[in-house]
Amino acid sequence: MDEDLITWFCAYTPLELLTAAGLKPVRSFGDPDRIDDSDAFLHPAICPYVRSCLAQAMQEEGPHHAVFVNSCDGMRRLHDAWKDLFPDGFVFLLDLPRNVGKSGERMLAGEYRHLLEALRSWRGREISHAEIKAACRAREELRREYIRAAEGAGGGERLLLARHFQSAPQDAASPAATRGPAATAPGAGRGVPVLLTGNILNPAGMVSLLEEAGARVVWADLCNGDRAFAAPTLAEGESLGEVLGALAAAYLARPHCARMLDGERRHRTLVENALRAGARGIIYASLKFCDSYLYEYPRTREMLQREGIPVLRLESDYADGHAGQVLTRVEAFLEMIS
Ligand code: SF4
Repeated sequence: MDEDLITWFCAYTPLELLTAAGLKPVRSFGDPDRIDDSDAFLHPAICPYVRSCLAQAMQEEGPHHAVFVNSCDGMRRLHDAWKDLFPDGFVFLLDLPRNVGKSGERMLAGEYRHLLEALRSWRGREISHAEIKAACRAREELRREYIRAAEGAGGGERLLLARHFQSAPQDAASPAATRGPAATAPGAGRGVPVLLTGNILNPAGMVSLLEEAGARVVWADLCNGDRAFAAPTLAEGESLGEVLGALAAAYLARPHCARMLDGERRHRTLVENALRAGARGIIYASLKFCDSYLYEYPRTREMLQREGIPVLRLESDYADGHAGQVLTRVEAFLEMIS
């Protein structure tokens, strides 16, 4: 196994720092079909994404280097189990503020510094701010490449493209080599346009069911969809402190996940994206047991009702073996908004 590969899970992971350290960050999407393999280490009533990531890692040869973000309880449990199971890997848990203001930026920049120190002592070399800036430029090139490739693509295809761009080992020196397959945009222009929002969805499960029911996902506001590519994470500055501060600000300025405090901004962005993309309704689909999205939904529904935007709530177990059961509800919703 390639010693430079490092696994990541949460869209708030500062990939630029990993690339600057000479690593190849690869996002884990887990193995939803073997999710029960993790039962001896993780309670079955926690996030199915987290469980399927551990199940997949248990089947793979190590070193199992990984960076976790302390974004929720499920992620912390995954970090704990991973550290126990794979003691030889480099494992780091990065704290993430909930506040996206200046104090949040300062805290996150401090966390980036801790991560850099850990990387330096593991890799046995300094990581300069010039290397971080170069990694930021390479990431920006990839982000633009994703936007070009995803233009006109449907929901499932967008998620597969995002998966390719997040999980193909990326070489900062030649980002073009990681280009994904060109979008063929099947069904472009057909189907009822909807915006899909939530956390992480399985492109082969819930998302393909939406398309089967006649929906056309025009914007996938998911952390494994368009959200992670919606804004640049370019960082400039003349010193390491400035570069880390700018990088922290850029990550916190991206469209939010529901676990962040500034719900008003997340709601505004949701409405703006729905109007810009011409969505007739919003499908709010999230993974089971994800408290952040469960807590957020009632407020989101109220706000969308005030704006006159219809919303349908769905829940996924990530494997989505029984997703067909919600087909009638999706069809009824699409009929209502078309
Ligand atoms: S989907 Fe929710 S519970 Fe699962 S890792 Fe993300 S924030 Fe945590």
